[in-house]
Amino acid sequence: MNSWDKVGVPALGTEVVVAPLYLTNSQSGLKELVPTKSMYRMYVCGITPYDATHLGHAATYLTFDLINRYLRAQGARVDYVQNITDIDDPLLERAKRDGVDWADLAHSQVSLFISDMVNLRVIPPLHYIGAVEAIPLVVKAVEDLDRRGSIYPIGSDYYFSNSVESGFGSLSHLSKSAMELIFAERGGDPTLPGKINSLDSLVWMSQREGEPGWPSSFGVGRPGWHIECTAIALEYLHPDSHEDHLIDIQGGGSDLIFPHHEMCRSQARILTGKELAANYVHAGMIGFDGEKMSKSKGNLVLISTLVANGVDPLAIRYALMAHHYRSDRMWNQDLLERAQASLLRLRTALTMNTVHESATVMQSIIQALANDLDTPAVIAAIEAWVAETLKGSSGGDAAALRVGLDALLGLKI
Ligand code: ZN
Repeated sequence: MNSWDKVGVPALGTEVVVAPLYLTNSQSGLKELVPTKSMYRMYVCGITPYDATHLGHAATYLTFDLINRYLRAQGARVDYVQNITDIDDPLLERAKRDGVDWADLAHSQVSLFISDMVNLRVIPPLHYIGAVEAIPLVVKAVEDLDRRGSIYPIGSDYYFSNSVESGFGSLSHLSKSAMELIFAERGGDPTLPGKINSLDSLVWMSQREGEPGWPSSFGVGRPGWHIECTAIALEYLHPDSHEDHLIDIQGGGSDLIFPHHEMCRSQARILTGKELAANYVHAGMIGFDGEKMSKSKGNLVLISTLVANGVDPLAIRYALMAHHYRSDRMWNQDLLERAQASLLRLRTALTMNTVHESATVMQSIIQALANDLDTPAVIAAIEAWVAETLKGSSGGDAAALRVGLDALLGLKI
């Protein structure tokens, strides 16, 4: 799958000091230092392309875009990989419901997602990999699990057996009963007869009537979701054998902590004996006007609709930074309008002949980002600078601040 066009990221001035980054690791629940390195490996779970990009997706990918930008500002290379689950039950169900070809539906939704990411100025992944194109890798990973005695058949399907050695549960820290409940809600099958452990997950599903299938040593079928991400991350991020962890950051929305990321890290542990990620980072969920945003409620706010209605994508970025990435939060028209008004004031301030002292606000932005991406503090620092500038304060460098806003926050003004 082709990734999208490069987003230009200007270099910060050499006088700007980029502090070490702290991020909350979902595994420990603590803010942890991201050790300073010359190269980072980041994997963020992508979409299942059966419905358009809504604000929840945007919030997640913007969070990891901020991390990507920050690590690059430190002078590091960031190898960023994202998948697209372009074959899975929800996609096939939607295609059947709408009487369209599943591959056409996936193709159209991936195109829409990419145009949304381009509009939002999200730095593209180095590798953007579809599940279908990754099938040979996934089969190889399932064969590897098989050699390690970690899979078993139920009928003509194959399941990954969660064992003590895999450290299953060490990411989500949920009780078994809570896991079973969430697993059933999120596409799992805890009560399926024939399972060794109710939480074992499907790695290869045999072809069903009227559904696509690909040949493999396990028969014609298609990959399970979790092993797809495990296999893609291990292949495309080329883990360094000298490190304790396979990759630096695994990320996604908080609804992926369990079962998805728990399963991925468990599979990776069996395949390699190592912890999948040094830091598991998760973005909160976005609701709308007091309710959970969901397809079933029909209250999804789509990026493409907002943009088609003339909303500046940078105002969407700005509005999503008004709250902390880890918090579950609400979207509403008022939040967007406040962001639009703030952006207008910022644009005005940046075109003034003299502007308020700017080196300090740059350092405030960096300190706030370094503290687990404290974007509300970033916004407060920007707005305080705008207020001083509009009052006539001078002594700053608008051009340098423009570079900082673009490089660190994706706000190209
Ligand atoms: Zn994933």
